[in-house]
Amino acid sequence: MNKQEYQEYLQSPHWKRCVYAMHQIRTEDCELCSQPSEEYHIHHMSYERIGNEQYSDLIKLCDKCHKYVHKNGVNITRQKDAHFRYREEMFYRMVYCGCDRAEANEFASDLVPSSEFHIHFIGDCMKESMERFMARAKDPKNIIV
Ligand SMILES: [Zn+2]
Ligand SMILES: [Zn+2]
Repeated sequence: MNKQEYQEYLQSPHWKRCVYAMHQIRTEDCELCSQPSEEYHIHHMSYERIGNEQYSDLIKLCDKCHKYVHKNGVNITRQKDAHFRYREEMFYRMVYCGCDRAEANEFASDLVPSSEFHIHFIGDCMKESMERFMARAKDPKNIIV
């Protein structure tokens, strides 16, 4: 795919679905620096599956990090943890099965242990303070909030 074809691809309904799904799944700030930004980019960590992207190929970055990553040819990969599998399934359901966020969540929610799942759904915006809380907690598997 040449540069012009790629630019056209970025206008395609499929790519717009990918972008929408990523924003629904990654509601917090930039995935690298955790800072809010006026502008976010859904960046391809891998171009191998253009047109057939999976969650592991994409990341939500602020403008600053996005420029940095391209300028320096930074490789980013995701940790394949329980949240990864949950988000991977969410992405698949939303992009390839026409599910909305709630429907996709029904399919994906079993993939995350219930305590982690509950914390996830307190809201991604609270993720950081929850992580601090978890670090202090004596029994992080059994937090009641
Ligand atoms: Zn950033
Ligand atoms: Zn990019």
